[in-house]
Amino acid sequence: MKVWQCSVCKYIHKGDKPPEKCPICGVGAKKFVEIDEASIPEKMPKRKGAVTKLKTKIPTPAIKETGLEKIKSLLVKHHAHPVSVHTPNGILPAAVIFFLAAWMFDYDLLAKVAFINMIFVIIALPFVIFTGTLEWKKKYNGALTILFKLKILTASLTAVLCVTSIAWYLVDPKILLSPNAWIFILINVLMLVCAGIAGHIGGKLVFKD
Ligand SMILES: [Zn+2]
Repeated sequence: MKVWQCSVCKYIHKGDKPPEKCPICGVGAKKFVEIDEASIPEKMPKRKGAVTKLKTKIPTPAIKETGLEKIKSLLVKHHAHPVSVHTPNGILPAAVIFFLAAWMFDYDLLAKVAFINMIFVIIALPFVIFTGTLEWKKKYNGALTILFKLKILTASLTAVLCVTSIAWYLVDPKILLSPNAWIFILINVLMLVCAGIAGHIGGKLVFKD
């Protein structure tokens, strides 16, 4: 039996032929390369076609990197994206819950707390987007399968909805007392859903399950 590895997300497939479509990142069979079975770690799943990770990577042509490119590669190597993304992702649910509570109980202090939390989210977002783009380009060769498109879409929506929520609150700090409060709440809940989907796809790519 042959062993194939997805050149985009490193998913491993065992079989005579590569799968028609990568079950993790969705690229076609052409993106699979045959690899040596000996290079697979000892702990191999019993299930045919199951997922594992390779210790050795597919050889890529050595390019000497300097300056900015080297910094970018180091950021990817040291997982700057997952590290940075947990800051806003940890704060976001709290912010949305505070906005919701402020709305339900007419408690202005909670809205202020939520807004301050949102400020931390927006400060972290540029770095999250920068490292995410880097990781996508360097680790996944800028692959544009449905999975990556959905991740880009939900991440962009999160950013746009975050800016909208902050701008709206700045213009009208009493928004939660107005009849349009439900739209403001909806924007925040949607932002949380989008961040959740983007995070879920990120986890799928990292853990390959
Ligand atoms: Zn793949």
